[in-house]
Amino acid sequence: MLEDKNQNRTSLADLGEFGLINHITKYFTISNASTIKAIGDDAAVLDASQKQTLISTDLLIEGVHFDLSYMPLKHLGYKAVMVNLSDIYAMNAVAEQITVSLAVSNRFPLEAIEELYAGIQLACETYKIDLIGGDTTSSTKGMLLSITAIGKAAKEDIVFRDGAKPTDLIVLTGDIGAAYLGLQVLEREKQVFQINPQNQPDLDNYTYLIERQLKPEARKDIPGLLKELQVKPTSMIDVSDGISSELFHICTQSNVGCKIYEDKLPLDPQVISTCEEFELDSTTIALSGGEDYELLFTVPIDDYEKIKGNPNFSIIGHITEKSQGLELITRGGQEIPLKAQGWNALKNS
Ligand code: ADP
Ligand code: MG
Repeated sequence: MLEDKNQNRTSLADLGEFGLINHITKYFTISNASTIKAIGDDAAVLDASQKQTLISTDLLIEGVHFDLSYMPLKHLGYKAVMVNLSDIYAMNAVAEQITVSLAVSNRFPLEAIEELYAGIQLACETYKIDLIGGDTTSSTKGMLLSITAIGKAAKEDIVFRDGAKPTDLIVLTGDIGAAYLGLQVLEREKQVFQINPQNQPDLDNYTYLIERQLKPEARKDIPGLLKELQVKPTSMIDVSDGISSELFHICTQSNVGCKIYEDKLPLDPQVISTCEEFELDSTTIALSGGEDYELLFTVPIDDYEKIKGNPNFSIIGHITEKSQGLELITRGGQEIPLKAQGWNALKNS
């Protein structure tokens, strides 16, 4: 996990807006040739060359999208970047720049903002992303963080949600359900802590789940890997709301149906053991748990040989005619209609 040990408190008011911007951005370096001008002028300048430009934005609000009582600021910064990069990779593109806009109340000292930016910087270094600008302002209550990611791709490489065809295979990277369970574990510990602050949580059985919740990694490797395998997906989406909801997006936009198989869903052993402990159905969690930031894509059935046996991929089902709807085939061979509920619905249920 990332370190989070900044005990001093320097008031943001003492520093001023320009002092703050300077302070938090001075350690960032540029690593992409497409970044012509980054921070410091009225606008950043990028060189798109012959490629197409991809842009994706997310807005995160304290109390709605994150809870700072168990999300350290450095992790928040890191994760906020991941969420955006994931959207660029889900288009089969390369991410190269971000902008970061921030509103904070006077509850936050400079050291808190430093932690946030340490996470953003770690993400930028690890994923070779240039911070090229943003905006900084005050808020009357809490923190708001908006990140925009910019990427590029050759026109013929970009993959949309609307190209899936009947008989295409449905492929998933990595495993699913862990991030949602990580959140459940953290929320349980928060409640225990509120009742008894002396209680030291023992989280050894949940390390993978918590890591997936607090420090997710976007699948930067996948567009390159697909290119190497000479596979161009017919559709692709990142798993932010759970695969059930993502399959609905793909099927609706592609005008098709799908069948996925319960016994093919890739689950980590910690997901299985924690579902047993929490008395949750692991298939429901796999379908509707969110924030895994894996990629879900479809490929023509002719690509089967290129995909099968690759440890990065699980083939979880196939695309059908629209009239067949979206179905889960259980271990017992029963056909159940998929529900479109994302993890927010799960949270409120
Ligand atoms: P302007 O007055 O033109 O909005 P600012 O003073 O807000 O300019 O910003 C100065 C420079 O610092 C710009 O290049 C801007 O993109 C960048 N910047 C401002 N806030 C942030 C931030 N939170 N993170 C990264 N860059 C920032
Ligand atoms: Mg500004």
